[in-house]
Amino acid sequence: MQNLIITCALTGGVPTKEMNPYVPITPKEIAESAYACYNAGASVVHIHARDRRGKPTSSPKVFENIVARIKAKCPELIINISTGGRGRKQEERGSALYLRPELASLTTGSVNFSNSAYVNPPHIIDMLAKQMLEYNIKPEIEIFDASMLPNALELVKRGLVKEPLYLNFIFGMKGATPAEMKYFQRYMQDKPVNCQWAVSGIGKSQLEMNLLAIYNNGHVRTGLEDNIWYDKDVHAFNDLLVDRLVRISREYGREVASPGEAREMLGLKK
Ligand code: ZN
Repeated sequence: MQNLIITCALTGGVPTKEMNPYVPITPKEIAESAYACYNAGASVVHIHARDRRGKPTSSPKVFENIVARIKAKCPELIINISTGGRGRKQEERGSALYLRPELASLTTGSVNFSNSAYVNPPHIIDMLAKQMLEYNIKPEIEIFDASMLPNALELVKRGLVKEPLYLNFIFGMKGATPAEMKYFQRYMQDKPVNCQWAVSGIGKSQLEMNLLAIYNNGHVRTGLEDNIWYDKDVHAFNDLLVDRLVRISREYGREVASPGEAREMLGLKK
């Protein structure tokens, strides 16, 4: 088995301090959480930015501040910048890509969430993919439902995304793909032979879906963006979630990838 790449999605666009007091919101808090996750064994951090009121923002200044602080604390750590659309204006979703993170998220289709539509129109997907090509950023393709994998392959055909792909299968988001074995198996059948892939589970499905990836030689994404609970009544914090996956993976006999090893496996050029 290859070493396990652990990504921690530190903040996201939805969790607040009221929901979980440990959610890092300010650039300083986000960098401190990234450093703790790095020490716990994460090789990638996926970041979102918030404004002074704690709302999602596309402000390049805030992203710049976060990236600079993370690089100062742990220059080796791989940074994945979100281009996700929740709470952000469509045209501004690529506003931080000029910072040239090694990875950025790219969702290749639209889907309903429980009480909203997550809209990723074709022209926005193309725009983000082109920006990533220009800045030599590898997209982490976010697969929320079955159409998004063929959509990603179409981008490859059109020369907007380079192979090998790095896919992140997201399970358990209400309105999208349920956290069930049959859907996981379907993705395993359909993914390209030559790719790297990870699994995210939303809410209480996070750990069980991460385990499926650990057992099947994939990679994992954890973090408060996807799940704010460690246990039924215990709030999680980011490095606590990373630490649990490190323990489980090592018990299983799978070593955890350093950022350098992750870089090599994902074909990233620093
Ligand atoms: Zn995100």
